[in-house]
Amino acid sequence: MELVPVQVNDVLKSAFEIFSQQLKVRGIQVVWEIDESIPRIHADPSRLEQVFINLLLNARDAIESRWGDRPAGDDEKEKTIRLWTRSDAGKVVCRICDTGTGIPENIVEKIFEPFFTTKEVGKGTGLGLSISYGIVKECGGTIEATPNEPNGTCFALRFPIIDEKA
Ligand code: ADP
Ligand code: MG
Repeated sequence: MELVPVQVNDVLKSAFEIFSQQLKVRGIQVVWEIDESIPRIHADPSRLEQVFINLLLNARDAIESRWGDRPAGDDEKEKTIRLWTRSDAGKVVCRICDTGTGIPENIVEKIFEPFFTTKEVGKGTGLGLSISYGIVKECGGTIEATPNEPNGTCFALRFPIIDEKA
């Protein structure tokens, strides 16, 4: 993996572009709360994009399994993915929050294990989060899942900011 200076906002936007149309037809709203002034991090951009794709796919699945796959119109406000970035205490923090099923407390420590899935056979490999965990770690970052209030899940990613003066 080759680490280069990367603007997380750009990678998040390009991952989102891949799904924007299908999120729209499913009535899933995307709310952007991006800090355009966050500094860059060290990452492999195509692998970091894969992380965001995995998180967006999981958010979509969690929203669908909670609210069904009805098109826009019925539960529009309830089907939301929030994308948030800030810099804080030497880190870039990125949150991807959904209004889906949430993660039961008894499985939350298992979700980053390879092949752990709660999805039907053929719908999930259980590899997305374990691969994502490895990629984030190789970039020197961390990833954790926390409950979203009042419902759903937030994934928070933290990466060390590049010291541009060095
Ligand atoms: P897969 O998506 O193939 O099941 P992942 O590694 O991406 O595998 O996720 C593992 C499990 O973690 C999922 O099956 C699901 O139970 C849980 N999970 C991941 N993301 C979310 C989310 N945003 N909301 C609820 N549950 C989630
Ligand atoms: Mg997945």
